[in-house]
Amino acid sequence: MKVAFLFLSVLPFYASSQYNSDASVNNVVINIVPETKEILNVLHIRSRADVNKDGQLKIIPDPTAAPFGAHFREGLNMHDNANPIKRYYLSPAILLSNETIIMFQRAKRTDKSYLFACSALVHELTHYYQEILVPDNYFDDKDGKHMKAYILQPSEFESFSVQSYYFIKHNDINLLNKIMNSNQPLDRKKELLINAFLVQAENAQPLF
Ligand SMILES: [Zn+2]
Repeated sequence: MKVAFLFLSVLPFYASSQYNSDASVNNVVINIVPETKEILNVLHIRSRADVNKDGQLKIIPDPTAAPFGAHFREGLNMHDNANPIKRYYLSPAILLSNETIIMFQRAKRTDKSYLFACSALVHELTHYYQEILVPDNYFDDKDGKHMKAYILQPSEFESFSVQSYYFIKHNDINLLNKIMNSNQPLDRKKELLINAFLVQAENAQPLF
């Protein structure tokens, strides 16, 4: 993670005709960006070197998204084929479900649903920043029955790690400290964070 990227957090993120005047969503995004970058640093996840060449990142409502679903769209991805990690995005966008937008507009911002919505944004921001490429044979776990294979893809493993760190930090700081202060290798800590997220956020079983 390179410090030079910090300029991004001062850009107006939220641009859409429907919610253009909604400062609450913009505030959520602006607050979450620096925290996402901090977590990328802590977890040694590399960001693209040429983020500063990107067009403005937009946050767009997606009424067709599943509840709390979110999606990162690269938008006219510019690749230097000799060095794809130097890619940058001309019109990047994060699409958020109606449920997530409504959650960001609410005054009460302490419950688990709100935290989950924030963590979904953190996940997509990680996809936006991350240096590693999504592979051509990217596997989308559409039926939800192959979660482990889905999460173990390098780009998803990074995004789930950062999302999980964020969620556990705000939901169970003692567990976060216990995992991060353990003697485990960093990749194992990421697995333990994802396990904790699956249990605490999704009421699911640990995968690792
Ligand atoms: Zn993802």
